[in-house]
Amino acid sequence: MSSALANPHFEIALLGGGQLGKMFLAEALRMDVGVRALDPDAEAPCRWGVRRFEVGDFKDYQTVLDFARGAQSAVIEIETVNVDALAQLEAEGVPCFPPSSALRIIQNKGAQKDHWAAHGIPTSDFERFESVGALKAAVAEGRWTLPFVWKVAQGGYDGFGVSVLRRPEDLEALPDQPCVAEALVEITEEIGVIVARHPDGSTAVFPPVAMEFHPVANQVEFVVCPAPLPAEALAEAEQLALRAATSLGIFGLLAVELFYTRDGQWLVNEVAPRPHNSGHLSIEGCETSQFEQLLRCATGLPLGSTALRQPTVMANVVGAEGHRGPVAYEGLDRALAVPGAHLHLYGKTQTRPFRKLGHWTAVGRNVDEARHRAAAARDALTAVSAQPKQL
Ligand code: ADP
Repeated sequence: MSSALANPHFEIALLGGGQLGKMFLAEALRMDVGVRALDPDAEAPCRWGVRRFEVGDFKDYQTVLDFARGAQSAVIEIETVNVDALAQLEAEGVPCFPPSSALRIIQNKGAQKDHWAAHGIPTSDFERFESVGALKAAVAEGRWTLPFVWKVAQGGYDGFGVSVLRRPEDLEALPDQPCVAEALVEITEEIGVIVARHPDGSTAVFPPVAMEFHPVANQVEFVVCPAPLPAEALAEAEQLALRAATSLGIFGLLAVELFYTRDGQWLVNEVAPRPHNSGHLSIEGCETSQFEQLLRCATGLPLGSTALRQPTVMANVVGAEGHRGPVAYEGLDRALAVPGAHLHLYGKTQTRPFRKLGHWTAVGRNVDEARHRAAAARDALTAVSAQPKQL
């Protein structure tokens, strides 16, 4: 194969043009690899910098096929991409990252859980239900006792489609869709491990990160690396993430979300076969970022080192409460003066409360310093709504 770099004929088809795609694109531009992107939103973050930007639905079979045909490889930045179209592309010789077979399992939380069970990968006890009626019957029979966790099987994201059921009334509020019941785990840490798996057979595992939740908002507030657990426990998490990626036959990236339980067990919660929020800090924190590893997979270049260069903490930039509309940023001067803090803005034109608009990654001599810097930069910057200026 001729080199993918500096080659006008080599192009990667990027399915989804959001912020994950944009950070992937930034690496591709840095290394001079061509990318075309597909997204339903004409204002998507990837509208700039690609060789071709197409507005279209990545859930639609024919749209995906027409868009990606002729590319040398395809990558996704969102799981809801049409998986049958990926399978057809593979049949036509376009390698997909992830492979369609892995994406098909991952798209459905029930199929994911069955997969872990079949491969001896520890996960919380669970049962799949085709309807809420079947779930209610299981509760009535005493097979499931409250409290436990309910998850919609397909289509949930960022905490939507997940709830802890505590009282019988909670069952009444559920949408009637296929779902998964899960035992409520006593979690001491939520840890993310990203695995890169290359078609040449090599693998690279990123250092585990800890997700720190805001006590009131219940949203991830900081992503922290290194994670505050003993080295042995972290090594186990890395091994488990690698086993999960191998069992799925992943090529490209697999972001593995793990629970560390009160009695020191690791459980796989769920996985995403793409760049992940928990890996953003790898841009400044690691020798090779998650985005560059995916690019290396999709171009046939060897994987790089994932070693942590220095303690690193990531905090999201989200829309301020009470603001909706065209976005403007206040406090940039003070925020950008924070030492060791790096700003990433995703290029979203509209703000709304808590919408993810960007992130800060701060490095420091230790995690506390890095966390302090990330918090200082985040608190100094406010994403508000502004009417466009009159020219
Ligand atoms: P999403 O796909 O929406 O991110 P997750 O499966 O990651 O959904 O669940 C969201 C959050 O709910 C997790 O980060 C965790 O805090 C909590 N959670 C999920 N499953 C369980 C469980 N079995 N026991 C306890 N908490 C859970």
